Amino acid sequence: MRVSVIGTGYLGATTAACLAELGFEVLGLDVDEAKIELLRSGSVPFYEPGLEELLTRGLDAGRLSFTTSFPEAAEFADVHLICVGTPQRDDSGAADLRYVNSAVELLAPHLTRPAVVVGRSTVPVGTAATLAARLRELAPADEEAELGWSPEFLREGFGVEDTLNPNRIVLGTDSRRVEKVVRELWQKQIDEGVPFLVTDLQTAELVKVSANAFLATKISFINAMAEVSEAAGADVIQLAEALSHDDRIGGKFLGPGLGFGGGCLPKDIRAFMARADELGVEPALSFLREVDAINQRRRARTIDIARELIGGDFSGTSVTVLGAAFKPNSDDIRDSPALDVAATVASLGARVTVYDPQAMDRAREAYPQLGYAPTMADAVRGADVVLLLTEWAEFREAHPDEIGEAVAHKRIVDGRNALDPTFWRASGWTYRALGRQ
Ligand code: NAD
Repeated sequence: MRVSVIGTGYLGATTAACLAELGFEVLGLDVDEAKIELLRSGSVPFYEPGLEELLTRGLDAGRLSFTTSFPEAAEFADVHLICVGTPQRDDSGAADLRYVNSAVELLAPHLTRPAVVVGRSTVPVGTAATLAARLRELAPADEEAELGWSPEFLREGFGVEDTLNPNRIVLGTDSRRVEKVVRELWQKQIDEGVPFLVTDLQTAELVKVSANAFLATKISFINAMAEVSEAAGADVIQLAEALSHDDRIGGKFLGPGLGFGGGCLPKDIRAFMARADELGVEPALSFLREVDAINQRRRARTIDIARELIGGDFSGTSVTVLGAAFKPNSDDIRDSPALDVAATVASLGARVTVYDPQAMDRAREAYPQLGYAPTMADAVRGADVVLLLTEWAEFREAHPDEIGEAVAHKRIVDGRNALDPTFWRASGWTYRALGRQ
């Protein structure tokens, strides 16, 4: 089976390389020519562990190629996977659907023979049914051009592993042909026991956004407990550990700290609320407004703690920010809590120096007003306070004595509860974290 993957960002490039690894012939398509050039030359345009090897293997084997041409993709493939972005609109919390709409509109007129189109992007419930109708209207193949929706659950940083070994495959369709094609794509995984759930279009769309709403809620729940713990004199880390032993609760996504960011959770919960409003069930998701607000408050609280530590005023101070990516093992800076905090602290008069193991280029481009250092050792030199805002292993494993020799003042805000406070305090540091005394 020949597959086209439309949109070769974090999701699409990973999907394309993994499907080639599984033995399919794959053509990746993007409207961004520079991205396609890089992929053709074997370079991944972002940081994703293990992806470059797969990309190179697919290219070398001749199973993977890239294009910017929709006619070529239509001619080449039997199944087309839509992996384009669905960011937040500029003027509201709703999803910006122009990219998924344009992917269907640019592809459909070239579908002259039977074709299956499967959406993988995260979309508001109801989008797929509209796109299915549009596809039938525009495709010369007419009823033989069918659309299903199969949301993707991969985590950046584990994209290859999650794509090759998903914990479930969800497909929204009422077409046997679409089901057969998607089953064939993931036959190996299904044979290995990965649950394959076939639903209607709407349920499949909802699975993805409700999963993200649940995860965001879990993070904000423990962060709300962090707020209460600080006020009440309790310790949220001990609290989280005690909660985690109840297997109805579990310990995953129960790490208190600076909260979530990135290209998925924040925009997905806002788009979900906007869609619930359109459907007339706004109160059902009003709790997500609070989830979002708790998350934003963590950023403000981190800044407050840092300000307290340096004596109440950032003007003229030197602040080191460790971390720019929204989470470790990624260079994705979309809605990055670390950079949001860094930019606010800079706007309050501090000289901010940022270091991140992978996201420096992206951060520099998006936040040119911040200072950047090439290594952690350079970044911390002369700092009045160090803020650890993305929990890369390099920062978790940093030695307080070594860093202590370089800074002007041994003060650290551990925005991710990633360090051992006893160890750092024993080395003379004033250590502060969210949700702890
Ligand atoms: P991204 O911004 O990294 O990639 C999107 C790509 O689509 C870009 O390269 C862009 O140039 C391309 N594009 C836009 N319009 C196009 C068009 N008409 N034709 C062809 N290409 C086009 O975004 P992403 O992080 O890969 O996310 C894509 C979708 O997958 C989103 O809906 C997202 O919510 C969802 N998703 C992402 C992840 C993740 O970990 N990043 C996980 C699950 C789901």
